[in-house]
Amino acid sequence: MTEHTTRVDVGIVGGGPAGLMTALLLKRRGISAAVIETRTKDTIHRTQRAGILETATVNMLVDAEVGSRVLTDGHEHEGTVLSFDGEQHRIDFQALVGRSVWLYPQNEVFYDLANAWECEGGEIHWAVTDTQVHGVETAAPRISFTDAAGQTRSIAADLIVGTDGSRSMCRKLIPESVRTDHFISYPFAWFGILCEAPPTAPELIYANSELGFALISQRNESVQRMYFQCDPDTDPESWSEDAIFDHIQAVLGTEGGVQLKRGPIIEKTVLPFRSYVCDPLSHGRLVLAGDAGHTVPPTGAKGLNLALADVRALVPRVEEFITELRASESDRAGSDRSGPEGETPDGEAPSVETPEPLRRYSRTALDRVWKAQNFSYWATNLLHRQPEENSFTHRRRRGEFDAITGSVHGQAYFADSYTGWSD
Ligand SMILES: Cc1cc2nc3c(=O)[nH]c(=O)nc-3n(C[C@H](O)[C@H](O)[C@H](O)COP(=O)(O)OP(=O)(O)OC[C@H]3O[C@@H](n4cnc5c(N)ncnc54)[C@H](O)[C@@H]3O)c2cc1C
Repeated sequence: MTEHTTRVDVGIVGGGPAGLMTALLLKRRGISAAVIETRTKDTIHRTQRAGILETATVNMLVDAEVGSRVLTDGHEHEGTVLSFDGEQHRIDFQALVGRSVWLYPQNEVFYDLANAWECEGGEIHWAVTDTQVHGVETAAPRISFTDAAGQTRSIAADLIVGTDGSRSMCRKLIPESVRTDHFISYPFAWFGILCEAPPTAPELIYANSELGFALISQRNESVQRMYFQCDPDTDPESWSEDAIFDHIQAVLGTEGGVQLKRGPIIEKTVLPFRSYVCDPLSHGRLVLAGDAGHTVPPTGAKGLNLALADVRALVPRVEEFITELRASESDRAGSDRSGPEGETPDGEAPSVETPEPLRRYSRTALDRVWKAQNFSYWATNLLHRQPEENSFTHRRRRGEFDAITGSVHGQAYFADSYTGWSD
């Protein structure tokens, strides 16, 4: 069978939120893109992940004209509740920093982006296999893959964007001699459930007690999302429904206060915690965005927001790079040099330096990534029980918690970081 080749400005590996948003925003600027994705659209749409969107993320969805469901079906949260040993403190985001967050699940963000891309006739290949990326250190990079029908295909481009998630294969194309992997793991995980019950509270509750951490979140009027801290090796089936709800209630406090709304549990997952940053995020004709370049523990609700913040930083720099490239190509076409850029006289693609706009993208994006890493790490350690915890470490954390909730400056730090700083 012959290989089908298409030619675009930018080839994108990974059709999650970062990849699809990149494709859409590039198209708005007249830059062509094609996306490949290993999973089916339906599988991604059914997979529960993040749920809290910063204001800048919501604005990005609205500005990208991907539909207004985030505004009609999403819920604005003007604050959140922090609870320590059953004592609750509300952090009023609007009063403190004039911003809110929105509860709108990631799988719906994905669905809106995928539908918008398809409706606009954007090239996307779902359920591909055998993804390979070639020549990222040359001016002629290329993606090869097998499509869902078994056809081998190739996408030739000027630039490859790796938005292929936390197990990124694109990341490994940045040589180890160039790449620094900053990594830590945590000695705990989140046990996440979806249950059929109405909301326990109108806003999220982040709770800590001597039993550890719990989060009361929502999905919609009839399905709720809750988490509690567990050992990373926990078997989800080893916890009964009653044991799960009793434990979360105990973290929240059993005397007075918030009473959990219980209902049938329809999903149980264990989510390990890691912090990772790849530096740099650009190399030759490859850039990374989203989880491909960094992962955060979910405590600060930063993963999805950070992925889309990368895209905000990336798209103008890609436009700058493509514009410079086209200008240099037309200069070359006007001169008497023979052979297009990307080919030596013997037909081989020569190696290229990382273009300056793409280096700048990496520096800008990493500045925000490290702020988000710091907040996610700090909030994780504030709100979780450490394995070696004793009465001193628990009371010290209580002191830290009181320093945040008992001071307008401490509250403002939390609100500013949680709602996502201004760009
Ligand atoms: C179980 C879970 C729960 C989470 N909960 C939260 C949360 O509560 N709050 C929060 O902020 N964040 C959460 N996150 C993190 C958040 O979901 C991510 O930060 C976000 O998905 C990043 O978007 P992305 O587009 O960069 O990556 P992804 O959404 O992971 O998209 C990457 C895509 O690339 C595809 N892909 C991978 N390899 C290839 C290949 N070789 N070829 C083609 N396609 C490929 C994948 O199938 C995937 O669809 C969670 C993550 C997980 C896994």
